[in-house]
Amino acid sequence: MHPPPSLPAHLLDSLAPRRSASDALICGRFAPSPTGSLHLGNLQTALASFLQVRRRQGIWRLRIDDLDTPRTKPGAIKAIQEDLCWLGLEWDGPVILQSQHRGWYYSWLSWLRREGLLFPCRCSRRDLAGLARYPGTCRQGDRGWGWQQGRLPSWRLRVPNHDPYGSGDVVLRRADGFVAYQLATVLDDLRCGITDVVRGEDLREAEAAQRSVFAVLQAPAPTFHYAPLVMDAQGEKLSKRDQSTGLKALIDQGCDALDVIGQLAFGLGLVPHGTRCSVQELLDR
Ligand SMILES: [Zn+2]
Repeated sequence: MHPPPSLPAHLLDSLAPRRSASDALICGRFAPSPTGSLHLGNLQTALASFLQVRRRQGIWRLRIDDLDTPRTKPGAIKAIQEDLCWLGLEWDGPVILQSQHRGWYYSWLSWLRREGLLFPCRCSRRDLAGLARYPGTCRQGDRGWGWQQGRLPSWRLRVPNHDPYGSGDVVLRRADGFVAYQLATVLDDLRCGITDVVRGEDLREAEAAQRSVFAVLQAPAPTFHYAPLVMDAQGEKLSKRDQSTGLKALIDQGCDALDVIGQLAFGLGLVPHGTRCSVQELLDR
């Protein structure tokens, strides 16, 4: 067993100061991808996260996960902000754009690589199909089929075998050169001092991978909370098509912000069906 690497001072300075246990400042965030307008599922998660931190006088940040540039839709970043404001979900500080942190993520990748914490992996999606987690194929520099074909590698984190989270070796740099979501999100959560992450139940699987990354960076992971998926009035899970309904469709049906907040709060089990309420009323409850 190697001792844990000491983290680089010049990179550590860019992270939020570590909190002591007595420091009770709560900080949450909403981090949508700008691939289109927010749908009800996104908005319900945003409301859950907002209420979770604001009830404890915490800070709520808006971060745009726009690293995957080809999928970014023009106008989506502005539309996200407008939708949140219309609902009364106001964030603190400037909007954080992940695309502006690219160089910083790559500095961390270089450091991780120099420390021997990453290894190149040329397994394809098909090579790994049906496996619950990465089996460590390329860990020892295995020169299997993918290597013979000269495929570009992704870079995986060498997660210790005794890792309690069971994530397997997490991809931190994708084969197409993009910084992987799991690294960017962990670094940004550290940079902003995020203490509480609320996200949809469907993202539970990402938690193990992120916990492994926090562990390698010797940083405490935030508390992860999961918001229920969007349900209809009968308590049934909405179909994919209905879930993708955005605010515009609701406004066209004659809904105002109070109707929509009531609907989202109902989805979170906070109010009876058909309630009209504002964000402030939910906070005062
Ligand atoms: Zn591999």
